[in-house]
Amino acid sequence: MIKIKQMTLYRLRMPLRTPFSNWREQVKEKDLYICELVDQDGVTGYGESVAFDSPWYTEETTETVHYIAKTYLKQLLKEPFSHPSEFIERANVIKRNHMAKAMVEGALWDIFAKRLEMPLYQVLGGKNPKVNVGVAIGMKQTDDETLDAIGQAEKDGYKRIKLKVSKKNDLRLIEKIRAKFPMMPLMIDANGAYTIQDIEHVKKFDHYNLLMIEQPFHPEDFVDHKYLQEQLHTPVCLDESIHTIQDVRTAIALESCRIISVKLGRVGGFRNALTIHDLCQKHQIGLWTGGMLEAGIGRAQSLALATLPGFTYPADQAGADRYWEKDILSEEIMAKNGMITLPERPGIGYEVDKAAIAYYQIDREIVKV
Ligand SMILES: [Mg+2]
Repeated sequence: MIKIKQMTLYRLRMPLRTPFSNWREQVKEKDLYICELVDQDGVTGYGESVAFDSPWYTEETTETVHYIAKTYLKQLLKEPFSHPSEFIERANVIKRNHMAKAMVEGALWDIFAKRLEMPLYQVLGGKNPKVNVGVAIGMKQTDDETLDAIGQAEKDGYKRIKLKVSKKNDLRLIEKIRAKFPMMPLMIDANGAYTIQDIEHVKKFDHYNLLMIEQPFHPEDFVDHKYLQEQLHTPVCLDESIHTIQDVRTAIALESCRIISVKLGRVGGFRNALTIHDLCQKHQIGLWTGGMLEAGIGRAQSLALATLPGFTYPADQAGADRYWEKDILSEEIMAKNGMITLPERPGIGYEVDKAAIAYYQIDREIVKV
């Protein structure tokens, strides 16, 4: 049994080494919460909020995560847990707010795995601690900057490139990339930049041997994604569209996509992600773990999920050195030749660096459970 004694919420402000841009937004720093839970025996677990500080990606923000966690989720921690899956059953009375739920649930899974003295990835059902990873390249000022960034990623051994696109830069840039890197596994992410009116334009992407096109249309356009996928050879991948198992069932029933990007925060944590994994495997829907510019705790948790057998495409969790001067773990999460090997230590497998937490901390709140 796990009986939670204390919850501490650390608010951190971490500047990114390089600002990350898509067609809507530029992220220069990550304003995030770390949730620390301590159980009856002093076992400590960590979760991370992956929300951004404004609601451009989903409706959640750093502030809403804080409010939901300290006001409602804390109440769900009063009764003991025999398994962390019980959290999401209790949390179903609170609608959506998936990133807040995932943050708290993540800390419970960390404690659960530590109590079992097992690495979290094994507790989740993963067998192989080696995860292939790719890099996401945001929009740059010039095409040459983008080509240089791809060249560097290729040199570093990363297994695929994901490129943020908009109507303004897409075909021109992909043409240039393919001229220089004809064989590089390449995918594009539109963050909903197109509509069904652009279908003839989007169909031109079929010429470039892309791994997938991520979220071409608005998140709620399951029907239009279906019309697109019918006419497109390249697989459509849904990201922002997928919040729940019901969204996955809709996408499968309509054949709106062939691939889904799973983000722990967006789907409400591990329990839901595992259910989505199993359903997608059954229906031959490809999977990979998407990135949210996570700090170390969130990165380690996403990588643990990515060890499950259904995650056949490279994960978006590149080495932490691409994002931060100094991450919040004692040992940096490093990629070698495009692969990250998870440690065999219990829980998330990485020590949280308390000095780094203190360095980035702008607020700390002990929430009475
Ligand atoms: Mg995306």
